[in-house]
Amino acid sequence: MEIDVEQFQGPCSCRRQHEITVKGIWIESGASRKLYEMLTEGELRDFAAPAIVWDENTKEAALEALEDVEEICESVCLDCEDLHADNHGVEILEEILPEETDLILAVGSGTIHDLSRYVAHKWGIPFISVPTAASVDGFLSNVAAMTWNGMKKTVPAQGPLYVFADTDIFSKAPYRLTASGMSDLLGKYIALADWKIAALVTDEYICEKTIALEEEALEKTVGLIEELKEGDPEAFEQLMYALLLSGIAMQMVGNSRPASCAEHHVSHLWEMEVINDKVDALHGEKVSVGLVMVRKRYEEIAQAIEKGECRLKPYHGLETDLLRDTFGKKGLMESAVQENTPDPLDLVEPEKLMELLPEIAKILYTVPSSGELVKILQKAGCCYEPEQVGISRELVPMTLQLCPYVRNRLSFLRISKMLQWTTK
Ligand SMILES: [Zn+2]
Ligand SMILES: [Zn+2]
Repeated sequence: MEIDVEQFQGPCSCRRQHEITVKGIWIESGASRKLYEMLTEGELRDFAAPAIVWDENTKEAALEALEDVEEICESVCLDCEDLHADNHGVEILEEILPEETDLILAVGSGTIHDLSRYVAHKWGIPFISVPTAASVDGFLSNVAAMTWNGMKKTVPAQGPLYVFADTDIFSKAPYRLTASGMSDLLGKYIALADWKIAALVTDEYICEKTIALEEEALEKTVGLIEELKEGDPEAFEQLMYALLLSGIAMQMVGNSRPASCAEHHVSHLWEMEVINDKVDALHGEKVSVGLVMVRKRYEEIAQAIEKGECRLKPYHGLETDLLRDTFGKKGLMESAVQENTPDPLDLVEPEKLMELLPEIAKILYTVPSSGELVKILQKAGCCYEPEQVGISRELVPMTLQLCPYVRNRLSFLRISKMLQWTTK
């Protein structure tokens, strides 16, 4: 299928003019052929020095489908050993990418895309996305999630000009990657609730049309689990479509607000290794574990609100002692403080928050319970317990306390620092 990207452009009820930077998306068997045609006789024919950026694994997965394309491109194959979306990865890519490159073809999953979009942006050249697995929703992203000198950052990058998602490639990816893509999408349950609550409590911008897209992506995912497990190629295309829809939602608002909040903060915190050792899990796997953890906490608070047992707590600003003991020990105190300046909680007016608690509880109850989420994740073969990603259960309370500080983005988890509640 070819996705009509025009439908997402233009004026919206949120009073913004949405702009989509991607020019075309194909999700179909043989999409690589379309790419070849575009490079030889279509819109992309004027690029004189296109380069494919892949790693050994993604090359192996995509080579057969991309044989013709490879013949007319420079091949830049990265060593997957210790390859991450960080400043080291960028260095490696910039070193071997031929100077004359005028178009990057990112053939891979999250890391290859983040590196490619960052370097493409830095070099001022366009890039094209060829996903090799339905594993993340970031293919269309116009920012890159990078670890920069140890601190997890969202750095400016650029979105792809076109996406060629070839079912013959991505439907054959190991199931673990596909499950990770589902997990990334299921994380939207919390991301959307967080966004709605933040917009309710502060005057943060929100767009109903964007929310509707993410909700469509979520619903699609939940409905696909059986077929994906059976390996139905059409279900893989639908999942890829859902992941790209989430990406379009991000393009519409120009950042990852619609797709990432507290559940992703959990994942980012673990990646920074300030309270834990190196976590060797996929992006989506950490996100779905974060999803369940945060859901449980939100459930607790929602129940307390209902019983009238949730009250304001005096808020004294950033927990600097805690930050020093954690981020500080890794030399990240300064960047943690910088990230949290201004404190997003400055925007939350305590009395107003108190008044809005019943409405907040209502939003929280629209999310499936943690029990229901676990069932969905179990059925889909996704992770839902910290041990599954190598995190000890004892780290859960600290994770929930610390993770809101990884990003200057208001989550209900962050807001809960102004609240106290009793648990049953
Ligand atoms: Zn809008
Ligand atoms: Zn994600």
